[in-house]
Amino acid sequence: MTLPSIPFFRPSISEAAIDAVAGVLRSGWLTTGEQVLEFEREFAAYVGAAHAVAVNSGTAALHLGLAATGVGPGDEVIVPTMTFAATAEVAIHLGATPVLVDCDPATLNVDHEAIAAAITPRTRAVMPVHFAGRAVDMKAVTDLAAAHELVVVDDAAHALPARSGGHVVGTIGDATAFSFYANKPITTGEGGMLTTADEELAERARVLRLHGMSRGAWKRFSLEGSWDYDVQELGYKYNMPDILAALGRHQLARSDKLHDARRRLAAQYADRLADVPAVSPLDPGDPDAHAWHLYIVRLELDRLTIDRARFIELLAERGIGTGVHYKPLHMHGYFRRTLGYHDDDLPRASAVYPQLVSLPLYPEMDQQSVDRVATAVGDIAAANTR
Ligand SMILES: *Cc1c(COP(=O)(O)O)cnc(C)c1O
Repeated sequence: MTLPSIPFFRPSISEAAIDAVAGVLRSGWLTTGEQVLEFEREFAAYVGAAHAVAVNSGTAALHLGLAATGVGPGDEVIVPTMTFAATAEVAIHLGATPVLVDCDPATLNVDHEAIAAAITPRTRAVMPVHFAGRAVDMKAVTDLAAAHELVVVDDAAHALPARSGGHVVGTIGDATAFSFYANKPITTGEGGMLTTADEELAERARVLRLHGMSRGAWKRFSLEGSWDYDVQELGYKYNMPDILAALGRHQLARSDKLHDARRRLAAQYADRLADVPAVSPLDPGDPDAHAWHLYIVRLELDRLTIDRARFIELLAERGIGTGVHYKPLHMHGYFRRTLGYHDDDLPRASAVYPQLVSLPLYPEMDQQSVDRVATAVGDIAAANTR
């Protein structure tokens, strides 16, 4: 008998959300409109931020966060090497230089001492990434930022909802970027949100999100809108359509439930993997403050006779999907070529990368599936230990 396969991720879309999207499709107004305004209001209230600006990707939210704080040519932006390409890419698009810093291998979060060591007179911003959903110790980052007059744009693509030192992620940095990509904690297929306490920053992000056009320009094809608008500065096409916002509102309303489910499954993984040789989960910190976007284990390769690729292959043979998050930026061709990095420039990230495997984790995963994955991980480790 072959068991059903367990995908790495499956989104959790309610029938009510599908109906809401169909409602927008029937309404005659598809792009940015009332659904987006409501989604922004609800999202701001959910994280406790003063302002939320909806955009069409997490990358766009990061880009607008940096742009609206005035990052530009000649600036240096401190970016953890342990992240997805988007975090560094947006700094480069603004003419700034990302300065990559190493991680704490126990959490994969940025190492605060590495941030401090990377600060120069040209440093303008720092972009902590709440890796896998475990919040960065933001007090340490904001203290450093205050001492050196840096802006903090945190990448919360994994971190809805998460807390750092009792504060909700999305209310701590000068601006925080969330992603609603298909496998993120809540999804709109593609989408993102920028939150901030700073009204001026939010206003600037709103203008930049739609071609730098004057406020309200998105209404220009409605009866209440005006045909007249002014392009005030060079902007982007980053607005979120109502089709996606309708889905996002339903996802957001279920965010706590989805989070509870992920948290329970993560606790079950921790329990089931505790005695597995040569496999150790990342240090979660306070598990209740963790968003549990990803469940990542480290393979102790010196105790195993197989490498990560073979480990993943053996899991796939048992019908189990996995991922790897992420190849550090300094190990990618583009960043090596343009920024001149070598593996030994960021030795801890280079050393931890070959050990990383992300196991399946999604709200509709059942306990038997977690058991099956943990059993498979245990069997494979036991059969291939030195
Ligand atoms: C997903 C992700 C992004 C980019 O989000 P998109 O919505 O795909 O543009 C940025 N940073 C991290 C850490 C991510 O995981």
